[in-house]
Amino acid sequence: MREELLIIRFGEVALKGKNKSFFERKMIARIKKVLKGFDKINVTREEGLVFIREYNIEEREDIIKEVSKVFGIASISPALIAKPFLEDIYDASNEFMTSVMEKEDVKTFKIEAKRADKNFPVKSPDLARMVGGAVLKFQKVLSVDVKNPDVYLHVDVRRDKALIYRSKIVGFGGLPLGTNGKGLVLLSGGIDSPVAAWMMAKRGMRIEAIHFHSYPYTSQRARDKVQALAEKLAIYCDEFKMHVVNLLPIQEAIVKDAPEEEMTIHTRRFMMKIAEKIAEKNNCKMLITGESLGQVASQTTESIVATDNAVNIPVMRPLIAMDKIDIMEIAKDIDTYEISILPYEDCCTVFLPKRPVTRPKLDKILESEQALDTEKLIENALENVETVKIVLRD
Ligand code: ATP
Ligand code: MG
Repeated sequence: MREELLIIRFGEVALKGKNKSFFERKMIARIKKVLKGFDKINVTREEGLVFIREYNIEEREDIIKEVSKVFGIASISPALIAKPFLEDIYDASNEFMTSVMEKEDVKTFKIEAKRADKNFPVKSPDLARMVGGAVLKFQKVLSVDVKNPDVYLHVDVRRDKALIYRSKIVGFGGLPLGTNGKGLVLLSGGIDSPVAAWMMAKRGMRIEAIHFHSYPYTSQRARDKVQALAEKLAIYCDEFKMHVVNLLPIQEAIVKDAPEEEMTIHTRRFMMKIAEKIAEKNNCKMLITGESLGQVASQTTESIVATDNAVNIPVMRPLIAMDKIDIMEIAKDIDTYEISILPYEDCCTVFLPKRPVTRPKLDKILESEQALDTEKLIENALENVETVKIVLRD
């Protein structure tokens, strides 16, 4: 049987200048890592593409599934390999078309030909016509339709081989993981923060997570839910550390000493301050939250100003201008949605004020914060951080 391979195309990495090979190397390393469980796979970089070869054909779909989660990839196509000669290109094209016709009812096709190697003696439009003729001769039931064919068959002639393929499986794009520092995501059990983490990782950022709970007011099930979400993220973001903090003593202090309607804002300021400390300790250069403007009372412009003011470290809010419905779409795409909607309590819902302020004034918040022993409370919380390693589940 003729050998096949997987063509992997770079997305934005292709636009990089001098440092392109740095990004390419990172992406290849990541591809190799996600394919660790498969045997005898060869990953190479050739003429602006990555090829995956020598895999077991039965595992092709599983391999594509894994690779399609690697950031930086624009698309993937399984392709048959021909020698860069007309006869062999005809042969491979016929073989490819036969395999398509075994599975689908195909009546029309069009050849899209391209020569990356300009030394190849036939120009692209002529090549398309010639391969089309060869396929027509072999598959008598087919006809050519240049406007709306059932199948586009691509013939891509390169220096030492020609590649015959059909469709492109679309990847997530972005930049390879590990090309853009590390951020600490404030990970709740909700829909938004896993999406926020994923979006930053898609720009090449490694992540760590911090989760706040109010055990025993929040349950072990709520904790397991966050663990499950983190494990989903690890599929895209690689293994990472999650820092787990009990916020209950701080929440109790806030209930006791701060105005009830400001409860949520004070809580969020403490979360940010604790996260900032943990970020500094773990070489995370930014915080990441799932906040989206106006989504709830604690995410109005004024609330975000009051929350943001708590820290000096840059806070990334990749969802800030997104509609909930679009965030939910991403959550479904990356498979976190079903976990996020499990109805377990969150630490923020344990002490929900009856009438939260929606337009908190920063100076008023800073003033009421004076009643709290912020430093001591944070110090105590930091002493009791539990750090777990999030690894991939089989
Ligand atoms: P999410 O769906 O991410 O929970 P949300 O819409 O419920 O967000 P909030 O509860 O106001 O919004 O939280 C805003 C952001 O604060 C979250 O996206 C997350 O980054 C952070 N956050 C909230 N609760 C927690 C928590 N228990 N642990 C860690 N971070 C949290
Ligand atoms: Mg939430």
